[in-house]
Amino acid sequence: MVAVEERNDIQPVCPHCKEPPARIVRARIQEMLGKAYVWSCPNCRAVLGVTHRKGFWMG
Ligand SMILES: [Zn+2]
Repeated sequence: MVAVEERNDIQPVCPHCKEPPARIVRARIQEMLGKAYVWSCPNCRAVLGVTHRKGFWMG
Protein backbone atom coordinates (compact mmCIF):
# COMPACT_ATOMS: atom_id res chain seq x y z
CA MET A 1 0.00 0.00 0.00
CA VAL A 2 1.46 3.30 -1.05
CA ALA A 3 0.35 6.44 0.65
CA VAL A 4 -0.63 9.39 -1.47
CA GLU A 5 0.35 12.82 -0.33
CA GLU A 6 -1.47 15.74 -1.81
CA ARG A 7 0.56 18.91 -2.06
CA ASN A 8 -0.60 22.10 -3.62
CA ASP A 9 2.53 24.07 -2.91
CA ILE A 10 4.52 22.44 -5.66
CA GLN A 11 3.83 22.69 -9.35
CA PRO A 12 4.53 19.87 -11.74
CA VAL A 13 6.95 20.71 -14.49
CA CYS A 14 7.16 19.35 -17.98
CA PRO A 15 9.89 16.70 -18.15
CA HIS A 16 11.03 18.03 -21.50
CA CYS A 17 11.29 21.80 -21.22
CA LYS A 18 11.31 21.91 -17.38
CA GLU A 19 8.71 24.62 -17.45
CA PRO A 20 5.58 24.47 -15.35
CA PRO A 21 2.81 24.37 -17.91
CA ALA A 22 0.03 26.80 -17.14
CA ARG A 23 -2.32 24.37 -18.77
CA ILE A 24 -2.24 21.07 -20.53
CA VAL A 25 -3.34 20.72 -24.09
CA ARG A 26 -5.60 17.84 -24.90
CA ALA A 27 -5.91 16.64 -28.45
CA ARG A 28 -8.33 13.98 -29.55
CA ILE A 29 -7.11 11.39 -31.96
CA GLN A 30 -9.13 8.77 -33.69
CA GLU A 31 -8.30 5.18 -33.10
CA MET A 32 -9.53 2.07 -34.78
CA LEU A 33 -11.43 1.03 -31.67
CA GLY A 34 -12.55 4.36 -30.36
CA LYS A 35 -11.01 7.58 -29.20
CA ALA A 36 -7.81 8.49 -27.49
CA TYR A 37 -6.56 11.71 -26.05
CA VAL A 38 -3.03 13.02 -26.30
CA TRP A 39 -1.98 15.28 -23.44
CA SER A 40 0.60 17.80 -24.44
CA CYS A 41 2.66 20.57 -22.92
CA PRO A 42 1.72 23.94 -24.44
CA ASN A 43 5.28 25.23 -24.09
CA CYS A 44 7.18 22.67 -26.10
CA ARG A 45 4.29 20.53 -27.34
CA ALA A 46 5.87 17.42 -25.91
CA VAL A 47 3.48 14.57 -25.37
CA LEU A 48 3.02 14.00 -21.65
CA GLY A 49 0.71 11.06 -21.93
CA VAL A 50 -1.99 9.29 -23.84
CA THR A 51 -5.28 8.14 -22.45
CA HIS A 52 -7.54 5.71 -24.19
CA ARG A 53 -11.25 5.74 -23.89
CA LYS A 54 -12.34 2.17 -23.68
CA GLY A 55 -15.54 2.51 -21.68
CA PHE A 56 -17.72 4.83 -19.69
CA TRP A 57 -15.80 4.14 -16.48
CA MET A 58 -12.51 5.33 -17.89
CA GLY A 59 -11.26 8.69 -19.04
ZN1 LIG B 1 7.23 21.25 -22.16
